Amino acid sequence: MKLLENMVKQDGKVYPNNVLKVDSFINHQIDPKLMMEMAKSLYEYFKDKNITKVLTIESSGIAPAILVANLFNVPMLFAKKSVPSTLKRNSFYETKVHSYTKNVTNNIIVSKDFLHSKDNVLIIDDFLANGRAAMGLVDLIEKAGASVVGVGILIEKSFQEGRKLLDKNNIDVCSLCRISSLENGKVEFNKADDILKK
Ligand code: 5GP
Repeated sequence: MKLLENMVKQDGKVYPNNVLKVDSFINHQIDPKLMMEMAKSLYEYFKDKNITKVLTIESSGIAPAILVANLFNVPMLFAKKSVPSTLKRNSFYETKVHSYTKNVTNNIIVSKDFLHSKDNVLIIDDFLANGRAAMGLVDLIEKAGASVVGVGILIEKSFQEGRKLLDKNNIDVCSLCRISSLENGKVEFNKADDILKK
């Protein structure tokens, strides 16, 4: 998606360990118009898939996920990184996810009340790096006996393992912008960056 690539080129900042900061338009301050355009592109890609729920992980996935869910006219559910005191034991699905940027492992949970075996679930997240967050969400969906329709990502770092891992698991991934390298602080994009091509 050209609009997103241009924003990444203009305002993205490369940090050590291949971390890209996009705090001025996605991760801290949010550009609502760009976010809406991104949501529309993800909707276009998955619109024929009979989606009944959009799932993400707190917190950065929430903004794109809620806009995508609104376009599908379905609820958006986000996995929590801590168990609220009001949730009883055995009333939630749980899995472990290692955070790429924070280097910690969290137990992530969703309430059994909101994910059901009949759900066709679209996963949305801001970044795809090693695929731990996405695979954790896939695990929660499978624990509920629901179906994974695919994964919609704003920024994929294609040089990391996540895309390969999702492809290996036959999961349909749509990434709006694919980065081939962040070497020497420079952002390089994959050549064939077309949201309808992988
Ligand atoms: P993964 O689980 O695929 O390794 O990493 C994806 C998660 O880590 C995303 O939910 C995102 O919040 C965070 N993340 C991974 N790489 C980056 C990055 O380069 N920049 C930012 N801002 N977040 C990242």
